[in-house]
Amino acid sequence: MTHGKLFVVATPIGNLGDITFRAVEALKSVDFIICEDTRVTSILLHHFDISKPLAVINAHNESKSLERVVERISANESAALVSDAGTPCISDPGVRLVNFAIEKGIEVVGIPGVNAAIMALSISGLPTDAFAFEGFLPQKKGRQKKLQQLAEEERTIVLYESTYRIEKLLEELSEYMPQRQIVVGRELTKKFEETWRGTAEEILTDFEKRNTKGEFVVIIAPPSWKKADSESL
Ligand code: SAM
Repeated sequence: MTHGKLFVVATPIGNLGDITFRAVEALKSVDFIICEDTRVTSILLHHFDISKPLAVINAHNESKSLERVVERISANESAALVSDAGTPCISDPGVRLVNFAIEKGIEVVGIPGVNAAIMALSISGLPTDAFAFEGFLPQKKGRQKKLQQLAEEERTIVLYESTYRIEKLLEELSEYMPQRQIVVGRELTKKFEETWRGTAEEILTDFEKRNTKGEFVVIIAPPSWKKADSESL
């Protein structure tokens, strides 16, 4: 029975083959799908031959649309929340919707799948027993302070970065954490997937030589971690 439930459905981060059977089933079974951008979600739905009404919840309209969507689910419709890519609510909209649904007594069901941070961690070869997920660093106010704090962080750090600021971020990391081992994953699961390993300065040197556009996850090793430590993992 799907009625009156909110499914939080993870979708691929680039490679459509990475969707799960349960995700497709959930998207086919619900009454409507809540997404960030109808153009992006329509491509996914079209690929899997799914046709459903879409409701949009994003950073611009979240407050207004929440109540409407939750009213529909309370009236026994079922809905799936997706984001443009990966797992909803992880550096993506949806947290307020999930929170509001829980407050209203709606059952929230997760359909797990891809997340760029976890995928990058899994191929990083760096310690994963404890990590600090920081997502996107603040763009202006508070950025330097955050970098100073992260320089003291004892755990592996996970950051998201866009194509526009990746070089700036690497420059900052070479200043604040010059000795740390860093893994940069670009366009994971996609055609131009690539991984760099080294200090921020080493990676930056390679970046400056060629075209490095795309979406990035940056994993930073703990200060105490040396390459030789991998034997003890
Ligand atoms: N909810 C998503 C998830 O579960 O990973 C994250 C959404 S966030 C708005 C988008 C950021 O995630 C990108 O700027 C990039 O840092 C990271 N990202 C998403 N897809 C990626 C990919 N295929 N390769 C590398 N990074 C990716």
